Amino acid sequence: AAFGSLSTRLTDSLAKLRTKGRLTPSDIDGTVREIRRALLDADVALDVVKDFCGRIRERALGAEVSSSLNPAQQVVQIVNEELVAILGGEQRRLELAKTPPTIIMLAGLQGAGKTTLAGKLALHLAGEGHTPILVAADLQRPNAVTQLEVVAGQAGVAVYAPEPGNGVGDPVKVARDGVALARSRQHDVVIVDTAGRLGVDAELMQQASRIRKAIQPDEVLFVIDAMIGQDAVATAKAFQEGVDFTGVVLTKLDGDARGGAALSIRGVTGRPILFASTGERLEDFEPFHPDRMASRILDLGDILTLIEQAQKSFDEEEARRVTEAMLTDSFTLEDFLKQLQQVRKAGNFKQMLGMLPGAKGLREAIDGFDEGEFARTEAIILSMTPRERKQSKILNGSRRLRIARGSGVTVTEVNQLMQRFDQAAKMMKTVAKGGMPNIPGMGPM
Ligand code: GDP
Repeated sequence: AAFGSLSTRLTDSLAKLRTKGRLTPSDIDGTVREIRRALLDADVALDVVKDFCGRIRERALGAEVSSSLNPAQQVVQIVNEELVAILGGEQRRLELAKTPPTIIMLAGLQGAGKTTLAGKLALHLAGEGHTPILVAADLQRPNAVTQLEVVAGQAGVAVYAPEPGNGVGDPVKVARDGVALARSRQHDVVIVDTAGRLGVDAELMQQASRIRKAIQPDEVLFVIDAMIGQDAVATAKAFQEGVDFTGVVLTKLDGDARGGAALSIRGVTGRPILFASTGERLEDFEPFHPDRMASRILDLGDILTLIEQAQKSFDEEEARRVTEAMLTDSFTLEDFLKQLQQVRKAGNFKQMLGMLPGAKGLREAIDGFDEGEFARTEAIILSMTPRERKQSKILNGSRRLRIARGSGVTVTEVNQLMQRFDQAAKMMKTVAKGGMPNIPGMGPM
């Protein structure tokens, strides 16, 4: 998952603090040193690390910690706030033009995920009621044009692709004509895909810069692969000098990336991160929320994204009910089943569970959940009477035996399911009772 090892190291070193009542300056120095090493190993740029650790240390040694009832918790809070800050603070939304069409230009290295992103962004905007059109001005990479036509088809949006994309043709003209076409057909958003190279080069920059001048975009989004590590900073700087951009999109955050790019880019370029791309499917895409990302890195849970995703894939009524059951103490086997069915339908069960607070401790249980198990779980719960589903406490030995027979599994499997359910219910209860007191903006729940 995104920031996997960075996240583990940060949470581990903060967890060590929790075992101590009072914190001495040397405890704090030790923790700051570990944080520093973890960030450097994750390829976060040195300047950014220095600033970040400097601020943590200063604040952690200050009054807000020493006068706190729970100093370790306070340090976690500080690290969280500073992470939010280096990720950009407030969420920055896409800026829409006052008079449509809004023109969005994509720039970045080849393979960064621009073409895929064009489809993702289009799908996202179409879902908000916009009528985007994609423009294929990447005439360099063989297949880029065809690929853009394919993603446009998948997203169900229009595409302008007059040239085959074999290295000839004039991308500036294509971009300009595409924008003109969008205007005449009254598309309210134009997304222009441009060529990338495998490395930064002058010709690439000039072409991108000429396209920028020709179409005067409202947003220039620099698309960058979060997995490229330390090169990210140099690449971002080169694009900033050569083309300049108004915002950043991080791609491949699903990879087991060291992820430092995400933490460096804002500090190095001063440009906000607008979106994150988290997989190969067009749906694997989300507006970037610095506070939520920080919570995810520190394993404080990301309930808001979880709920949003749930609402996207669940029918609304059901989502509200399940969410409510999750956040109160009334989580039943019925809810558990519904949740499994819905999540299974959404197809990203593990990703979603990963967003629950403290999810790392559940990693094993999550990874052990395979498709066959879904089917068995469903069969088991369906073999219960409605009353059994509501009051799982009444499930004694003979009831469990009956259920096992009815669903074609062993009693052991029924018992395992019950254990799993109890574990989930306990987790929900923890959430409900304030087990995640640090979700920014939400306060203790
Ligand atoms: P472009 O050269 O910048 O247009 O890059 P593409 O859109 O062709 O993407 C390059 C490769 O990365 C393709 O195989 C994509 O499927 C893949 N890709 C793009 N975004 C993501 C992402 O967020 N996660 C993962 N795992 N793969 C991605």
